[in-house]
Amino acid sequence: APVAIVCVGMAGSGKTTFMQRLISHLYTHPDPTVATPAVAKNPAAPPYILNLDPAVHHVPFTPNIDIRDSVNYKEVMRQFNLGPNGGILTSLNLFSTKIDQVIGLLEKRTAPPEPVQAPEQSTVEFMTNQGRATPPPTQQQQQVKHILVDTPGQIEVFVWSASGEILLSSLASTFPTVIAYVIDTPRTTSTSTFMSNMLYACSILYKTRLPMILVFNKTDAQDAEFAKEWMTDFEAFQSALRNEEEGGSFGGEGSAMGGGSGYMGSLLNSMSLVLDEFYKHLSVVAVSSMTGDGIDDFFKGVQEKKEEFERDYKPELERRR
Ligand code: GDP
Ligand code: MG
Repeated sequence: APVAIVCVGMAGSGKTTFMQRLISHLYTHPDPTVATPAVAKNPAAPPYILNLDPAVHHVPFTPNIDIRDSVNYKEVMRQFNLGPNGGILTSLNLFSTKIDQVIGLLEKRTAPPEPVQAPEQSTVEFMTNQGRATPPPTQQQQQVKHILVDTPGQIEVFVWSASGEILLSSLASTFPTVIAYVIDTPRTTSTSTFMSNMLYACSILYKTRLPMILVFNKTDAQDAEFAKEWMTDFEAFQSALRNEEEGGSFGGEGSAMGGGSGYMGSLLNSMSLVLDEFYKHLSVVAVSSMTGDGIDDFFKGVQEKKEEFERDYKPELERRR
């Protein structure tokens, strides 16, 4: 079965650039699940691409399904007299009413190839990318192994809305689904931004109950070793906190933050327990969407999480339904 990878993350973390890198990787790298002698005949398995960001101006790839084809974000804002977030939310709501058709298309495109190819995408043409360049027909006939989903820049609109939940749970009830939580590494080097990012990722993990990969992006600009260290060694994180505190970014002299005593000290100790448990459930990869560094590791993580989905998450999803 194909795996669905849903990219979420703060605005500007690099979701769209990451998607672009995944796509070019899949087009240029042999399918690792195909035995070596056959690789030459089975070069790449192209992904099926969904864009769920109604507000994006330019997408550097060609989505197979694009929310912008079925809802006009600007028009939605104007007609309903909404601001940017309300516009995105309403667009998602409108789109989520068509999720059955979307899943239907996905099922059709990810089924093993039939001996005679039926004409593509005939029933819901209004949602597909007619008029835009489509991949060459030879590649279209390859079986799809990856469904890649880009989400709105404003993460909260997708993750905390009813339509976001509908879209995610429809996907997850049809395909093994993995969340890629993309992080702007150069912007998480302070302990406070790091902690808030981890807590946000943690809340998304518990909200979606889907396996998650933390993607520390932009490693060409900032190495992610510090993050890996903070995630494996809470002592290291606490000492970084103390150093920042001495540097004057927190309370300074007499602050109760350091030393594991006082309010901040005990808060941090409790959080360390929560986060330790959280970190155990995650795969962590460091990538540069700019250079392609680390993308192999990401796909290894996807394979692991896909197996985890089948083993641990699917029974739970079925039980809750
Ligand atoms: P999105 O809002 O999460 O979809 O983020 P975008 O993909 O639009 O990227 C936001 C900005 O980060 C753009 O200026 C990108 O060029 C930049 N960016 C994305 N990935 C990388 C990366 O790996 N390295 C560097 N240096 N910049 C990146
Ligand atoms: Mg984007």
